[in-house]
Amino acid sequence: MRVVVIGGGIAGVSAAFALARRGAAVTVVDSGSAGQATAASAGIISPWASTVEGPFYDLYAAGAAYYPRVLGLLAEAGVARTDYRRSGALLVHEDPARLAEARARVEARARDAGAIVGEVRRLGGDDVRALVPVLAPGLEGLFISGGARVDGRTMRDALLQGAAHHGARCLTGRATLLPGPRVEVGGEPVAADAVLLASGAWANELLEPYGVRLAVEPQRGQITHLRVEGVDTGRWPSVHPLSHHYMVAFDDSRVAVGATRETGSGFDARVTAAGQRQVLSDALRIAPGLADATLIETRVGLRPLPTGQLPIAGPVPGMAGLHVVTGFGAVGLTMAPFTGDALARSILDGRLVPELTPFAP
Ligand SMILES: Cc1cc2nc3c(=O)[nH]c(=O)nc-3n(C[C@H](O)[C@H](O)[C@H](O)COP(=O)(O)OP(=O)(O)OC[C@H]3O[C@@H](n4cnc5c(N)ncnc54)[C@H](O)[C@@H]3O)c2cc1C
Repeated sequence: MRVVVIGGGIAGVSAAFALARRGAAVTVVDSGSAGQATAASAGIISPWASTVEGPFYDLYAAGAAYYPRVLGLLAEAGVARTDYRRSGALLVHEDPARLAEARARVEARARDAGAIVGEVRRLGGDDVRALVPVLAPGLEGLFISGGARVDGRTMRDALLQGAAHHGARCLTGRATLLPGPRVEVGGEPVAADAVLLASGAWANELLEPYGVRLAVEPQRGQITHLRVEGVDTGRWPSVHPLSHHYMVAFDDSRVAVGATRETGSGFDARVTAAGQRQVLSDALRIAPGLADATLIETRVGLRPLPTGQLPIAGPVPGMAGLHVVTGFGAVGLTMAPFTGDALARSILDGRLVPELTPFAP
């Protein structure tokens, strides 16, 4: 089967890898639009403390559980580098009651999720700062050893490389969707038996001519990367102050702090003064030890925010041969590899797999 995947973010490349390794002839098309969410993502893979419930949480948890499997499949395809590490997730708060609530939630979920969650351990202030020395005094913690982080750009490139290993090709350019469905890039047709629309926040742009509108819109996220000179941050856990923001550490003394959630931003991928102020003041409140860090850059991504609460994955009604995957919002790096695999099976078998029925468009 010839499948054209429109969009080379994590949603598109995850499905492309899963399709190509099952023998489909895959073409990935990406326009290189400013604001790709994947390129800006923080990279936290740790769903168990989240307050969401129902099918959203189920997909979120399945996504985290699937990571070791997809990393194994990539290794088999000769792709070793993903910058995934289970360095743990550290929830922090001044109020022990808030941590107790979170602990009950995580432990209840750990019973279903199994070994992937790892150890769940309560930490006092000294132990918290022994793990992440830049944190404020007065913060206590809950450590989840199975929490992971991955570099979104490296993971995206790894999946694309894995897909290429199985014969996929990649085109740069803006795709347009024609009836059939057929795809054109730069006025040239690209042959397809099926088309997967994986263009993130831009999904509706391609569907507009057909009077189809999905429950998804762009939500800007600004995230700042800091360098803590001379400090090995590579093993720091991600830090979650039970609020809208977080901190995630990488090798090379780098820490990402953020992020804004700017609903209604449209396709405006700028760093703004207010966004920068919010990100830095949130970060310095929980981690005053970052005050002297070097500001490297601020990345901006347009999340595909699901306005109907759930991500969208499956065949588009009334448009035979057209499938869609979008609406991962703030957690697409976690959800996409699992969803891409399930979607690949659905496309090749001609029927939506049960795991995806709550998310059918
Ligand atoms: C600041 C920030 C932090 C985040 N942190 C996390 C995190 O810690 N953990 C987590 O799990 N998730 C995180 N996310 C969410 C995650 O990044 C997104 O949910 C995910 O990247 C969405 O992937 P996508 O492939 O759907 O969209 P995108 O990555 O935006 O990719 C869509 C692609 O489609 C292309 N495109 C659009 N139109 C066309 C066209 N006509 N033709 C060809 N190509 C086209 C674009 O160029 C783009 O490359 C974060 C997001 C942001 C912004």
